[in-house]
Amino acid sequence: MDYDTYGSNAVELAIDLANADREDPGWVRAFLDAHTEWFTDGTSLSLPEQDAGQVAQTATLIRDVALAESEPDVMARLNALLALASPRPYATDHDGELHLHYARPDAGAVEQLTTTVAMGLSQVVVQHGWQRLGVCSAEGCGNVYVDTSRNASRRYCSNTCASRSTVAAYRARKRA
Ligand SMILES: [Zn+2]
Ligand SMILES: [Zn+2]
Repeated sequence: MDYDTYGSNAVELAIDLANADREDPGWVRAFLDAHTEWFTDGTSLSLPEQDAGQVAQTATLIRDVALAESEPDVMARLNALLALASPRPYATDHDGELHLHYARPDAGAVEQLTTTVAMGLSQVVVQHGWQRLGVCSAEGCGNVYVDTSRNASRRYCSNTCASRSTVAAYRARKRA
C-alpha cells in the first residue's frame, strides 16, 4: 500500500504513542526523547504535568480509534482526536525531500505531537479504510497497529508477537 511517506510515518508515530508503556511516571518525556525528529529544533520537551496529561489523553484517543469496530464509532473517535489538533500545514524539505508538516513550527511539543498524530491517523483511515487499524491477536499483548500489508491480512503488532503465537499454536496442536 502506498500512502505518502510523511503520512505513513505520522501514523507510525501515532501507533507508537498509543502503545507506549505508561507505567513509569517519566514515560511522556521518554517518549518525546525517543521521537525528537518530529519536533522543530528548539522545541522544549520538558513538559509541565498538565501537558503530560494531554499527551496521555491523546494516546488514549488513538487507542480508542484503533479499537472501534464500526465506521460510525471510528468517525466519532477520530473526530474527538481531531478536535484536539490545530493543523497549520506547511511544506518543508528539511530532510532533503519535499513534504508536508501538519503543525505550525513554533507550536509547543504537545500541539505538534497531537496535530501530527491526529492528521496522520486520519489520512490513513480516510484513504485506506478504518479496517486498517487493529489490535494485536497475540495473547496478552493488546498493542494496536496499522495494517500496511497489500491484502490487509495483518493480525499482530510485530513479528515477535506473530512468531510467539505460531509457536503457541504449534504447542497447542501437539498437546491435542
Ligand atoms: Zn519532516
Ligand atoms: Zn502484539
